[in-house]
Amino acid sequence: MAEHSFGKVLVANRGEIAIRVFRACYDLGLHTVAIYSNEDTYSLFRTRADEAYLIGENKSPLGAYLDIPAIIDLAKRRNVDAIHPGYGFLSENADFARACEEAGIAFIGPSSKILGQMGDKLTAKAIAHACNVPTIPGSTQPLKDGDEALEKAISYGFPIILKAAGGGGGRGMRRCDSPEEVKPAFELVKSEAKKAFGNEDIFIEKYLVEPKHIEVQILGDQYGNVVHLGERDCSLQRRYQKVVEFAPAWSVPEKTRQALYEDAVKVAKHVGYVSAGTVEFLVDKDGNHYFIEMNPRIQVEHTVTEMVTGIDLVRAQILIAEGKPLSTPEIGMASQSDLKMNGYAIQCRVTTEDPANNFAPDTGKITSYRSGGGFGVRLDGGNAYTGAVISPYYDSLLVKVTSWDSTFEAVCRKALRAISEEHVRGVKTNIPFVTNILNHPTFRAGKCHTKFIDETPELFE
Ligand code: ADP
Repeated sequence: MAEHSFGKVLVANRGEIAIRVFRACYDLGLHTVAIYSNEDTYSLFRTRADEAYLIGENKSPLGAYLDIPAIIDLAKRRNVDAIHPGYGFLSENADFARACEEAGIAFIGPSSKILGQMGDKLTAKAIAHACNVPTIPGSTQPLKDGDEALEKAISYGFPIILKAAGGGGGRGMRRCDSPEEVKPAFELVKSEAKKAFGNEDIFIEKYLVEPKHIEVQILGDQYGNVVHLGERDCSLQRRYQKVVEFAPAWSVPEKTRQALYEDAVKVAKHVGYVSAGTVEFLVDKDGNHYFIEMNPRIQVEHTVTEMVTGIDLVRAQILIAEGKPLSTPEIGMASQSDLKMNGYAIQCRVTTEDPANNFAPDTGKITSYRSGGGFGVRLDGGNAYTGAVISPYYDSLLVKVTSWDSTFEAVCRKALRAISEEHVRGVKTNIPFVTNILNHPTFRAGKCHTKFIDETPELFE
């Protein structure tokens, strides 16, 4: 595959991740194009691109960013060489990647074939199984109906979890602790899957009690080279959604970490993975690990990996899409032994949600904003400034505060200092809640599992 440098990159996304990608483009000397919906007319991100175009005028606020024909048409008219999909929206949509491929525009991510495979959790598990990577005991085919779900649940033993094969973002999952719960849960997950994912396949898995969620960052180039960039601990979740993430996952035994790296690389190599991707695992109390899925895109929490490895993952994605090998100096990963991990990083997702009101999203004008900063503190925001209007149409992420320091204790103190400097007036934020997490002795001791937040009421005070 020949190298082909891009001139112009369009970002098919909004908010902080659009700005994040524009920054990587500028650092490479590339011209940038934003798209924005009616509702985003006054959003900051669109002013951060060299060109910006309104899209999906007759579409819903979300629909505008999902309008494949309109985005491809615009990209062609504006002579765009490549499209970065960010996360969410079209980032894992195989039809979109295919439409780019057919239009002769580079999709900055893996091929449509890999997106198709990894977009289905059952297919992804089958791939892991084929590589001898452990998966959680469960059905290998979609369940026919609630009766089959119940029969399987009884054979595995409770608790179990029902999952939509096409699910994502913590949606399309239900835990069941007893036989009575299974059939109603099956119907619920099915209707959610039909509405939200356009894929009605449901499968069952044994529910692991109190695991950690550990994920491995992968980079693959177009020449079959694959490396890992270490792991992240994403066990701090509220209702299956990540809140605070850190790297490295220092409290996981070294032997398990090495096994995670090996298995993540195995899965990525098996599918011929190209671009940045994440292989997600659950790790039980005894250090056993199980593959759960692979996310074929840049993730919200990629910042912590960047802080401890010094590698700009979005820039790497762009260079890889241009056909550059992993050994290219700006990536610097000619082989796995080139990985240098340094220190500890924590990302806190500051959202405009009110912890005192069951995390209801708050909206309105930010009347006053002052940001945190200092050595080892990085902010990635989309709308964090005085005068910004927080609309109800999109997710409530205000700013990602990522801190780096040489020890875990030091980075905890720094993260606390950085979020205490985040001064936001006019809309409620989850800062008090995140502060409680960072101060909690269980967090400091590295002992949090995925149910820690839901089972710790004092975090909500
Ligand atoms: P999504 O694609 O929506 O992010 P994942 O499959 O990555 O869903 O799972 C998200 C979270 O759900 C995990 O981090 C974990 O907390 C929980 N989870 C998923 N499967 C299981 C399981 N079998 N047992 C226990 N928890 C699970």
